[in-house]
Amino acid sequence: MKKIAILGSTGSIGTQTLDVVDKEGDLEVTALTAHSNIDLLEKQIRKYRPALAAVDQEDKAAELRLRIADTDTRVLGGPEGVAECAAASDAEMVVTAIVGIAGLDATLAAIEAGKDIALANKETLVTAGDIVMPLARERGVNILPVDSEHSAIFQSISDQKKFLKRIIITASGGPFFGMKREELAKKTRFDALKHPNWNMGAKITVDSATLVNKGLEIIEAKHLFGLDVDHITPVVHRESIIHSLVEFTDGSVIGQLGVPDMRLPIAYALTWPLRKGPVSQPLDLVRVGRLTFYEIDNSAFPAVELAKKAARIGGTMPAVLNGANEEAVAAFLRDGCGFLEITELIERAMENHRPVEDPTVDDIKAADAEARELVRANLNIAS
Ligand code: NAD
Ligand code: MG
Repeated sequence: MKKIAILGSTGSIGTQTLDVVDKEGDLEVTALTAHSNIDLLEKQIRKYRPALAAVDQEDKAAELRLRIADTDTRVLGGPEGVAECAAASDAEMVVTAIVGIAGLDATLAAIEAGKDIALANKETLVTAGDIVMPLARERGVNILPVDSEHSAIFQSISDQKKFLKRIIITASGGPFFGMKREELAKKTRFDALKHPNWNMGAKITVDSATLVNKGLEIIEAKHLFGLDVDHITPVVHRESIIHSLVEFTDGSVIGQLGVPDMRLPIAYALTWPLRKGPVSQPLDLVRVGRLTFYEIDNSAFPAVELAKKAARIGGTMPAVLNGANEEAVAAFLRDGCGFLEITELIERAMENHRPVEDPTVDDIKAADAEARELVRANLNIAS
């Protein structure tokens, strides 16, 4: 039995990870954490009987403690409790399925404790990749990508890293593919939450509509695979069948294909270097029929270029891009700003920021806070 802890077990990736646990049969859950959804967390605790659980919101943690007093699970509270779950359980691997920079401390705690990471929480690498990756190397920790594109890149590189020339990262294009700015200006959260191929948490679904997600993923790939962003080419691939590709020095291109189902990359991260029984439907290429590819429309969707710019500047700039985006998306999800404003606010936060080189975790958090503050101030002026 391989022991795993799941941070963010009540979310889209968290629940699909538990589905993989049910299907694989040789994975044991030793810790589960959530932000506030204690109804679902209670059900999960009763089913998987982990030794540890944590709830980010202290009052909810206290309530859960009472509810599950008849079990052997110890419930911790607050961000420190979540980080303790990451480090203290006897898991060999921690699945980081928390959304946003909120996952950073717990990911660092897990790495410090020598746990392998199945990384879904891309914001951790975007904001602090220059700290996370060297720390993982120092502690001998493997970071296995859960993000479908990065899992595809990882699988395609295999043992040929030294011949890697370029990464081709695919993007579905999201629900607003082909639209121009006039049309995008009218889009609401209801429109943005209808993703054509993937069923995901609200934040990443909006990120897929703005293409901020692809920008974040380019920075994530830079850290995971050690290529600069100019050697990572995004391409729109509407069917989400080819999850990404790599080009080697001889010009050969290798990609990974599969049905769009996050349980595939989740299972691969959990069972690597092995492959176990099927967790999803087989791919029927004849039924898919056609695979199509398009360039990114950078004038309608400026997010990819903004992310590349933030990565080239480096230091605290990617944390500003990410923090401004998290704050703007939260506003968009409560109808507090328009769709196009999300990337405008990111751009403004980046213009306003004086990046710190070789930042510490505290510098990164300060940059994140500054970006959020600037977004909030701009939203107040506008409303
Ligand atoms: P989600 O919103 O569905 O779930 C987020 C989880 O994190 C929940 O369990 C929630 O309780 C927890 N959480 C939220 N805020 C927290 C906080 N402040 N402290 C502690 N826990 C907190 O999100 P998701 O779609 O599952 O995405 C999770 C991560 O995986 C994101 O970084 C996302 O970019 C990445 N990812 C998701 C998908 C997908 O298909 N959903 C695909 C690739 C990558
Ligand atoms: Mg992805």
